[in-house]
Amino acid sequence: MAVGSSIEAALAHIDEAELVALTRDLVRIPSVVRPDDSHATEGAVAQYIERWFVKEGLNVEVQPVAPGRPNVVAWLGDKGDGRCLLLEGHTDVVTEGNPAEWRYPPFSGQVANGRIWGRGAADMKGGLAAAMIAAAAIKRSGVPLGGRLVVGALVDEEGDMLGVKHLCATPIGQELDAAIICEPEQNQLCLEQRGVVWARVLIRGRMAHGAMPEAGVNPIAGLAALLHQAPRLERRLRRLCRRSRYLRPPTVTATVVQAPVHGTPQSNVIPSAAQATLDIRLTPGPDETVVSAEIERACRAAAASVPGLSVEWWALNGFRPPTTVDRREPLVRAMMTAVRQATRRRPVFGGVPGSTDGTILRTTRGIPIVTCGPGNRLIAHQVNECVEVSDLVDAARIYAGSVLNFLNL
Ligand SMILES: [Zn+2]
Repeated sequence: MAVGSSIEAALAHIDEAELVALTRDLVRIPSVVRPDDSHATEGAVAQYIERWFVKEGLNVEVQPVAPGRPNVVAWLGDKGDGRCLLLEGHTDVVTEGNPAEWRYPPFSGQVANGRIWGRGAADMKGGLAAAMIAAAAIKRSGVPLGGRLVVGALVDEEGDMLGVKHLCATPIGQELDAAIICEPEQNQLCLEQRGVVWARVLIRGRMAHGAMPEAGVNPIAGLAALLHQAPRLERRLRRLCRRSRYLRPPTVTATVVQAPVHGTPQSNVIPSAAQATLDIRLTPGPDETVVSAEIERACRAAAASVPGLSVEWWALNGFRPPTTVDRREPLVRAMMTAVRQATRRRPVFGGVPGSTDGTILRTTRGIPIVTCGPGNRLIAHQVNECVEVSDLVDAARIYAGSVLNFLNL
């Protein structure tokens, strides 16, 4: 069968009502990970996905990653002499915050105004459902695959990305040749993602009575100096990093400040230590050593502001570098064609403001990744999260077309 007609055959099996029902089911199974509650994990939604794939006749592997937190990996076809393509989604969602602020209850999966509403509708149970439906449509169409399609429903993307790190170390993960990351990007083809380093800065001084500051060394003054350095650090990183059409320039944002670090805060006590976290976002260009030297420079300037301070920093969870994929990659070409076939529109390129599981796949496995999925990219992590049904259907069609173009050409 020619690729064009096999794509038509697969697209004919994508049903909007089924896709909407599946997305709503996934949204209605809460999967906020709450470390103080051992039942609040991705476990229930993972079990639902496992059963769904078994019912659809795909091969399924459940990979225990942490207690109650399994990856579900399903596949169709054998790699043989062909390629292996991953459609990737994560099963965890971020907190719903205050439910009273939501128009519809956050885990209701309400359908209204052509959208599905709820925590995870866009980030990213919608994208995951679209990937699942695309795989099932290919299976139902009977179109033979010239390689292997893998769908990964992975845990902990919103945390330390344990799920994708685990997958990369398994045999099925090591056979991957490329991946589509189904995050909400308005179905744009995102070839670039910003990188991130969370710089935790610890400032040590000397404890003393608040009435006799001359007897101590106040780390809070050093913390203020560090915050004052942040815009300078940002300017230096902007000069070092390459400009990108699709990515915002680097940013340096303080997200955590804390003093004292240990013990009870008391109004008349100068604490012995203070700390801050700088959320540093990067575009391609400088390597880890160069970025580290710039962070170090900001820390030294903060230390120099108050005699007697010591300042050290480290990267929480390591560096997640920015990623770029060449437009000539076979995966990108397969997806560009699929967008035209599936939506009758021209592909639109874009960039991912943050890092994703794709960052880990790109940096540890070295494979090309494209981030493309349904939903407005700004809606992630907000109240009143929603996904447009038309975006969902487009995504499922783009995925099915991309898989066939990539594996069968
Ligand atoms: Zn996400």
